[in-house]
Amino acid sequence: MLHLLLGATLAYDVLISAGHEGRPASCARFPQHRCNLGAQGERAWTPIVADSATQILRRYGLTVARLPADFAGTYRVAAAVFIHFDGSNPPCRSSASIGYPHARDLAAARSWRALYARYWPFGFQPDNFTAGLREYYAYRQVDARDAGLVLELGEITCPAQHAWLAPRLNWEGALLAYYLSKLIGKGAVPDPGAFR
Ligand SMILES: [Zn+2]
Repeated sequence: MLHLLLGATLAYDVLISAGHEGRPASCARFPQHRCNLGAQGERAWTPIVADSATQILRRYGLTVARLPADFAGTYRVAAAVFIHFDGSNPPCRSSASIGYPHARDLAAARSWRALYARYWPFGFQPDNFTAGLREYYAYRQVDARDAGLVLELGEITCPAQHAWLAPRLNWEGALLAYYLSKLIGKGAVPDPGAFR
C-alpha cells in the first residue's frame, strides 16, 4: 500500500495485460480509459493467452505483472505486452497487427512479426494502423525498456482466422513466452515450434 501512496513505480521483468479483461466491472474506476469491451469473444480469449505466457515465464524464473485491462499505478519493466484480438465489420478485413508508442519499440515489433509470421497464415496490418494501437491508453502507465507492444493476434470475427486461433490459445502463450524471454535476455524459455 505504501508504494501507491508514495507514487513509486513497480518493477518486474515482464508485464502482461489481457485486453478487455475485467471489464465492464473495472470501467467505473477508470473513467479516463475508453470502456471498450472488445470484439465478440475477445474477452474470453485474451486471459487464456496471458495466463499461458505468464505460467511459462514464471516457471523459468521471470517476474511477471499479470494484469487485466484496467490497472492503477505505473510499472517499470523490461517488456510489456497488451494482448488483443481484432474485430472487423464486415468480417475478414483485418488480421494480426502490432502497436507501440516509441521508435525504440520498432526492433521488438519486427522480431515479433518475423516470429509469428512463421506460423500465422493470414498476414499483418501495418504497425500502428489504428488510433487504438498508436495511442493505447495504458502506454503512459508503463516504462518498458525493450518493448511495450499491443499485440493483435488475429481477427476473431473472421471465421477462418477464428478457426485457426481457437485450438492454439495456449500455444500462442508459449510462443509469446519464448519471444519475451529471448527479447529481454532472461530465462531461456524454449521455442515451442509449430502447434501440434
Ligand atoms: Zn481488443
